[in-house]
Amino acid sequence: MSSQQYKTLKGMQDILPPDIFLWQKVEQTARQIFSTYGFQEIRTPVMESTSVFSRSIGESTDIVEKEMYTFTDKGDRSVSLRPEGTASVVRSYVENHLDKLPAPQKFYYAGPMFRYERPQSGRFRQFYQIGVEAFADSSPRMDAEVIAMLERLLSGIGLEGVSFQINSIGCGQCRPGYRDALLSFFSEKKEDLCDDCKRRYDKNPLRILDCKASTCRQQRQGAPRITDHLCEGCRTHFEKLQTLLSLLQISYSLNPEMVRGLDYYTRTTFEVTSQSLGAQNAVAAGGRYDRLVKEFGGPETPAIGFALGMERVIELLKLTALRSAPSPSVFFAVLGDAAGSACLVLAEQLRKQGRWVEVGDAASSLKSQMRRADRMAVRHVFIMGDDELRSGMLKWKNLAGAAQGEVKLSDMELFLAGQS
Ligand SMILES: [Zn+2]
Ligand SMILES: [Zn+2]
Repeated sequence: MSSQQYKTLKGMQDILPPDIFLWQKVEQTARQIFSTYGFQEIRTPVMESTSVFSRSIGESTDIVEKEMYTFTDKGDRSVSLRPEGTASVVRSYVENHLDKLPAPQKFYYAGPMFRYERPQSGRFRQFYQIGVEAFADSSPRMDAEVIAMLERLLSGIGLEGVSFQINSIGCGQCRPGYRDALLSFFSEKKEDLCDDCKRRYDKNPLRILDCKASTCRQQRQGAPRITDHLCEGCRTHFEKLQTLLSLLQISYSLNPEMVRGLDYYTRTTFEVTSQSLGAQNAVAAGGRYDRLVKEFGGPETPAIGFALGMERVIELLKLTALRSAPSPSVFFAVLGDAAGSACLVLAEQLRKQGRWVEVGDAASSLKSQMRRADRMAVRHVFIMGDDELRSGMLKWKNLAGAAQGEVKLSDMELFLAGQS
């Protein structure tokens, strides 16, 4: 019988050491920073009724039309793996009456999302996002706070060379007028648009503005700008946001073409891009969605959020950050069985203090144990044999600094505390 070798599905990947240490660093930093802004974690299922996503993200978006993992379960229900986080959080917000909590209600999530996309570099069918959603605060101060928090996170994890772009895409009051202006602008250019945009012309002409096809880029030169069509309320909101961002010393640029791919956005939208990834690849993106909670059957509730793409962040960190994998602080090289047992007890004591301790294999030579310690980039190696057991004095070596010496067994904890 021949054995079968399995591989991950196309577009999916294992995340392994040492990369995983970068992932953990980003996740830990996010939790720490979000908590200082009062954001609390929410965990929703990775699978929902398909309509949770099609209703919110929009029937005519690429995500819903082409990219969702949708199937019928054994109860004959149409279910989908979540392609993004916001829809599930809003579903949960309404279902669990989270609007009854003191306002504003602020949540974050972290976990895998799924889209059946053509795999390419840096894009996966199971990908990870960290996102936040803030409910029941319509003021531009909340927009500024959420953007500031994202900026803190990115600088907290050591990501450099990123830039913020912001835009306002208006509201139910002013967007129809802008839509009309776009329709008349594109009416004579319609035949020159890409096939997707020919359809978008009728369904969602705003999306022609962020189409990546070169022909559409050309055709939209001189197109009317949403920011020239904002109603009084939207304009004031957008101006106030800019004032607040300047006050917070967050640099940004205006990008009137950034409309974001999802249907549910209103007013503020923003993106963070990095030069190293190219302008098409946002590291993080978000916006305000003041109507979505109501559309999910909840009370009229303004909201704003963002999501950060973990794979892209990790890719960037690998370009710049020092990859510091953790290493053991103590390694016991042991000679003989009695020494091995003694070190097992010692190791337990040191681990209780939170140190990573490794004990060598008494059956292998001192040389090969030292080699193993070296490969693990251990800070201190202690050598323990019958002589050391009797005398209570241990030889130690600092592998990096080449320092060495002796320490009393009873003084070990004190010695290590002085070294770290
Ligand atoms: Zn408006
Ligand atoms: Zn197009």
